[in-house]
Amino acid sequence: MTPEFTTRGWPYNLTVIGGRDSSVGDGGLTLGGGISSFSARYGLAYDNVNNFQVVFADGSIHNVNLKTYPDLFQALKGGGNNFGIVTRFDLATYAQGDMWGGLVQYTENNLETFVDALSHFGDRQVEDPDCAAIVSLIYYQAYGINIVNLNLEGAKPVVNPALLKDFTDVPSPMKSTMRVTTLSNITDEMVKVPHHDIKNSPSLMLEFAELFKTQITAVKAVKAVKAVTAVKGVFPVISFQVISPATIAQFAKNGGNPFGITADDGTLILMSTSNRWSDAADDAAMYAMADNFIAAATATATAQGLLHPYIYMNYADASQDVFTGYGAANKAKLLATANKYHSSGVFRSLLSGGHKLK
Ligand SMILES: Cc1cc2nc3c(=O)[nH]c(=O)nc-3n(C[C@H](O)[C@H](O)[C@H](O)COP(=O)(O)OP(=O)(O)OC[C@H]3O[C@@H](n4cnc5c(N)ncnc54)[C@H](O)[C@@H]3O)c2cc1C
Repeated sequence: MTPEFTTRGWPYNLTVIGGRDSSVGDGGLTLGGGISSFSARYGLAYDNVNNFQVVFADGSIHNVNLKTYPDLFQALKGGGNNFGIVTRFDLATYAQGDMWGGLVQYTENNLETFVDALSHFGDRQVEDPDCAAIVSLIYYQAYGINIVNLNLEGAKPVVNPALLKDFTDVPSPMKSTMRVTTLSNITDEMVKVPHHDIKNSPSLMLEFAELFKTQITAVKAVKAVKAVTAVKGVFPVISFQVISPATIAQFAKNGGNPFGITADDGTLILMSTSNRWSDAADDAAMYAMADNFIAAATATATAQGLLHPYIYMNYADASQDVFTGYGAANKAKLLATANKYHSSGVFRSLLSGGHKLK
């Protein structure tokens, strides 16, 4: 959530539902979904939009909400930049005082414990929707090792909430910043980790982690095989977080969304991978590595019948077909809405960037 939101709301102990990192913008985040630390209690950022002020293709300005344009309102939630330029978001606000949170890091041999913990956590998050967790494996070039990074949060100022005990009971972290503090401190600290959805499976998460490690050993798709570990400034991350039944239950509010995710899906694991590096000469190798990794992860999950078609727009690579992942009926509905309001297709053809509805 941007500092503008946190600093404006904070004197009143109020927050809105936004991103977990203070450097991330609110416009794209909200139009693609917006997973927050509070999503199990309140849903995604866009579940908490009461009104969008939108500039249409003809330049006219409209308040789009459940009463004025219900179809367009639903389409904007997950439709990205295909439906107009949003010039104002009216968001629900929530009381929020101090919370408990931070990051904890462990050696890689604890990975299995934590993916198991995340799997159980997703199934049980409904018991305490104030808790949130992300499990990441990060390669630290300076030390030449992989480290397990946990981002743990509880929306109340309670140390070690019971639901997170499977994480917090593991002894001997290498580092821990867990403390009671403000939301803005947490969003400032959040590790900059920016996909695929899979059914809840600890063993598949471990297989993805193995694939990740194979990929960082060598970039095989380029002619000159170069170890990613040698790429200047490389910082590869693979992260797992849940879209739990607690969060999915929130999707019905405010007119629903076009994601195609239902309660029958149970706990979904959102897997994302991100890579940073410093030299443009390594671009081709690093993009090839990411492509290989996504292809291998997709094939592995598909072979085990564990791939969910949903792809989270805000983490997706440009090559990924987000809208097909919403399901045929949802995609057709979005296309019909786009044609109804913008028959010229101007936002889908002239506005560069973003995932395009085709
Ligand atoms: C460091 C970091 C942390 C992140 N943390 C989270 C997180 O906690 N939760 C989460 O869900 N995601 C997170 N993300 C992913 C994030 O949601 C996406 O990167 C998102 O696209 C960011 O939106 P933006 O407005 O900053 O980006 P931009 O690149 O400015 O916009 C992204 C897209 O949205 C469109 N867009 C933006 N604003 C408008 C508008 N007003 N009207 C119409 N179209 C618009 C743009 O045209 C573009 O296609 C994170 C990303 C980063 C890099």
